[in-house]
Amino acid sequence: MIGKLYVCATPIGNLGDVSSRLLDTLKAVDYIAAEDTRHSVKLLRHFSLHTPLFSYHRHSGKAKHAEILQALHAGKQVALVSDAGMPGISDPGEELVRDAIAQGIAVTVIPGPMAAVAALAISGLSTARFAFEGFLPRGRGERRSVLAKLQHEERTLIFYEAPHRLAETLADLLDMLGERQAAIARELTKVYENVERGTLSSLLALVRKEPLRGEIVLVVGGINLGEPVSDLDGVEVVARLLAKGLSPAQAARHAAQVCSLPRAELYALAVAQKEKAQKK
Ligand code: SAM
Repeated sequence: MIGKLYVCATPIGNLGDVSSRLLDTLKAVDYIAAEDTRHSVKLLRHFSLHTPLFSYHRHSGKAKHAEILQALHAGKQVALVSDAGMPGISDPGEELVRDAIAQGIAVTVIPGPMAAVAALAISGLSTARFAFEGFLPRGRGERRSVLAKLQHEERTLIFYEAPHRLAETLADLLDMLGERQAAIARELTKVYENVERGTLSSLLALVRKEPLRGEIVLVVGGINLGEPVSDLDGVEVVARLLAKGLSPAQAARHAAQVCSLPRAELYALAVAQKEKAQKK
């Protein structure tokens, strides 16, 4: 009989967030493949679980990968856990899941905490549609080119970020996306849980004044193209879109969707406004 791979979410800080299904699964499986066994052993000890652990991290070679798949083919039940939250989400797991599926092994999930969704839910920003971006690249050029592709994204954006890179990232977000509403969700579920909400510039000023510590999720509002408005507001709509960093052509295209003025007229307005701003 073939085994099953259980993809198990674990707490992102507060051990009280384990579900009884998670504990039952971790107890019942033959092995637990863990991102860091030293970290996961603490979880097991806390709940008096004695299931054998072995490491499976992003640098595990092909041999380790094959070993897990072999165990599953031999009928073993294997749970996959990462240090925190959902495996495969900015954590190892994606490749193992893909290979298990390709080899006909059943894969199931024990859902639970995930920092991005937890932060979004209490950000105060739109939760209707969102885009999870994980960690931005560390190099400035690469980071800005990722952000350039997100300039016109209407969905709420979610990023993971290290505290020592937060100010730099906020500055790039402001520069590349223009002013937006945002939230910094810190140390979720832990003693010092805290959420700072405001504009990107106010959050940048805060972080520059007093660097924030701990684990951080950054939630940023999508581009707001505004509600449909009348002809009279064409000037204002174009100005708002230019201020968000759009080119005159892009601003005219978006403005034409919400104003009844012809696109050519909006483009002329945008070019004139841009020239005026450059002369200042
Ligand atoms: N797999 C995890 C998940 O499902 O959320 C994410 C793992 S990723 C390596 C770790 C990052 O998640 C941290 O650097 C931080 O950005 C975010 N994170 C994890 N725990 C958090 C918490 N308690 N509060 C805020 N952010 C957290």
